[in-house]
Amino acid sequence: MKTNILFLGPPGAGKGTQASIISEFTSYLHLSTGELLRKEVKSESELGLQVKDVINSGKLVSDELVLKIVRKNLTENKSGWILDGYPRNLTQANSLSEVLKKISQPLQVVFYLNVKEDILIERLLNRGRSDDNEATIRTRLKIYNETTQPLIGYYEKQNILEYIDGNRDLNNISDDIKQKMAL
Ligand code: AMP
Repeated sequence: MKTNILFLGPPGAGKGTQASIISEFTSYLHLSTGELLRKEVKSESELGLQVKDVINSGKLVSDELVLKIVRKNLTENKSGWILDGYPRNLTQANSLSEVLKKISQPLQVVFYLNVKEDILIERLLNRGRSDDNEATIRTRLKIYNETTQPLIGYYEKQNILEYIDGNRDLNNISDDIKQKMAL
């Protein structure tokens, strides 16, 4: 059974939804950098005020800042984990790899949720988060295509990438993921 999992895919692919389902099913830690950052914004903490504008513009917050969040949560965790929304670029992927080496918890599988762009846009517009307006969606998709997408090849080379057709109904997707986790 795979215990160290990563979800990769564009905004609106269903990473958060699937990570929640799998986390409930396994009791592994669901580590969503976006969710943790939104909590900081909501509580108006110093960190939250610092990142609010960046998040609402659809751009990425700094690599150092997200790394701090990820390192803290992973080192405190004893069982499995599911990363959702991290890493978002090659620098973050290399930092993650260093952290995982230090704690001797190698990443075992990367689920790449592939979804057609028109479906992504429709899902995002229906979600209604404060960063889900049309202009921001365009920025987030562009950043995804330019900086996050190269991670598909990065993990493919490591032979840990599993391709998931994310255009389907969410139950079909999670059944597929559960089956691949058991391999
Ligand atoms: P998400 O919930 O994953 O869509 O993330 C929402 C927003 O949080 C993103 O648009 C970024 O502004 C910020 N964010 C989340 N994860 C990261 C990350 N790994 N690196 C940089 N910014 C991030």
